[in-house]
Amino acid sequence: MDLVKPHAFTYGREVTSFIHGEFIAPGAGERMEVFNPADERPLGILYEADGRQVDDAVASARQAFEDDVWRGLSVQARQGVLRVIHDLILANADELAFLECLNTGLTYAQVRGRHVVRAAANFSFFADYIGQTQGEVYTQTDNFITTVTREPVGVAALIAPWNAPLALATMKIAGAIAFGNSCVLKPSEFTPLSFIRLMTLFTQAGVPPGVINMVNGRGPMTGAALVSHDQIDVVAFTGGTRTGRAIGAAAGGGLKKVMMELGGKSANIIFDSADQARALDGALLGIYSNNGQQCLAGSRILVQRAIADEFISAFVARTQNIRVGDPFDPATEVGPVISKAQMERVLTFAQNARAQGCEVLTGGARAPEFAHGFYVQPTAVRAPSNHAGVCREEIFGPFATFIVFDEVDEALALANESAFGLVSYVWSDDLPTVTRAMTVLRTGVVWVNTPMMRELRAPFGGFKASGVGRTGGRANEQLFTEEKTVTLPIRPVDPPRLGLDIKP
Ligand code: NAD
Repeated sequence: MDLVKPHAFTYGREVTSFIHGEFIAPGAGERMEVFNPADERPLGILYEADGRQVDDAVASARQAFEDDVWRGLSVQARQGVLRVIHDLILANADELAFLECLNTGLTYAQVRGRHVVRAAANFSFFADYIGQTQGEVYTQTDNFITTVTREPVGVAALIAPWNAPLALATMKIAGAIAFGNSCVLKPSEFTPLSFIRLMTLFTQAGVPPGVINMVNGRGPMTGAALVSHDQIDVVAFTGGTRTGRAIGAAAGGGLKKVMMELGGKSANIIFDSADQARALDGALLGIYSNNGQQCLAGSRILVQRAIADEFISAFVARTQNIRVGDPFDPATEVGPVISKAQMERVLTFAQNARAQGCEVLTGGARAPEFAHGFYVQPTAVRAPSNHAGVCREEIFGPFATFIVFDEVDEALALANESAFGLVSYVWSDDLPTVTRAMTVLRTGVVWVNTPMMRELRAPFGGFKASGVGRTGGRANEQLFTEEKTVTLPIRPVDPPRLGLDIKP
């Protein structure tokens, strides 16, 4: 294969934790290899943060918070630093994209063109946002004025997944620090590489030591120690639903604020009134972009019977044309999945699909042209009903499932018949169909006649098992601040007086 690689950057092979502005020496925690999913070669060694290091990271964040080194700055000063971070991320975009591509297997084109740009935009977005926030004033009660202001919560634990590491973690970091909090990030143990570079950019931008710390390690070890730490005030988590339940329980036990963005099994509904060419492009992108590893994947494609055969065969033909390959090759459209375990999981769903009565339309196996790397063929199956396991469980790989329906309300009922409720996609040019769908669908986001379109100002998150709370402008403000109500009289008050009638 003729590869056009971007410039390769050298990077540190030792992944430790970043505490109080410095990378620390390894502690007593486990050592584990970090892999490149495209060739299965080790990229470096991750030294897991042990309990003491988690304590140190949280203590550093707490000290920065209590010392006012960051929350005590003016809004203008904080905006200035956030904007410098934005500029530094863009100035180092090639390097960040290189590291992210190497470690995740996501295509360089997507990481450089979208994820890194989004990571930068997260900081400028919150810089703009905090310049426009408002408090509340109530004057309706005679003689009293009551104000409501917002203050930072304190120390935030930010737990990130591997499927879009930079883009998702920076939304949390920017959202937390913009409002004056300190934080401790725990990236996925599979994808720590780009964060090493990112931490140095924070320092270069002028973020004081302790405001952003990072601990590296596995979820049930480092992650659990962080989430349950008694000096953590708020937890923001993106990851799987099962992990979300464990984190929710730990956070609940400590009465911490919590926001969780979890899994999905989202319906992509193609009505016969749709612009079919656009819907086809949208359906392919919805399931196969990001190597199929997206919480918001349109993984259950519901097609109306009148157009089903034509639509499905066009989808299968295009799927078979998708270029699977080296993530650094600009021609590649789908790269490897993140790990051997993830590859085996996806392939098990393909094997089980037949037993569940599904017809495997294409794919269903490891891509044969690669001796190394976790490459899965883009796969599509047709399910006999929504009860098949492939329609109910999140697969998190390049795996589309088709279901055919007859009536509009039947499609909406099928879409809602899920434990999840993250997003739904609706393709139709018929207004009553669209308005019915947007009111009936039980998901946090409905995208009409468009593939994913993330409006940062608007809330993003899920109904049901897809999450708790939302992320976005106001949503992050609510998560990362506490409200304070202050009431004061306009004229001095004469309250009832106690203790005056003292008997002799
Ligand atoms: P995961 O749940 O396995 O891990 C996510 C993070 O949580 C990792 O950093 C992991 O180390 C950590 N973790 C695991 N157990 C923990 C524990 N007990 N305590 C604290 N931390 C713990 O998820 P993943 O495999 O990294 O990511 C894929 C999942 O993320 C999918 O289910 C996907 O749908 C979901 N996701 C959701 C969104 C969204 O916005 N809703 C976005 C991206 C990914």
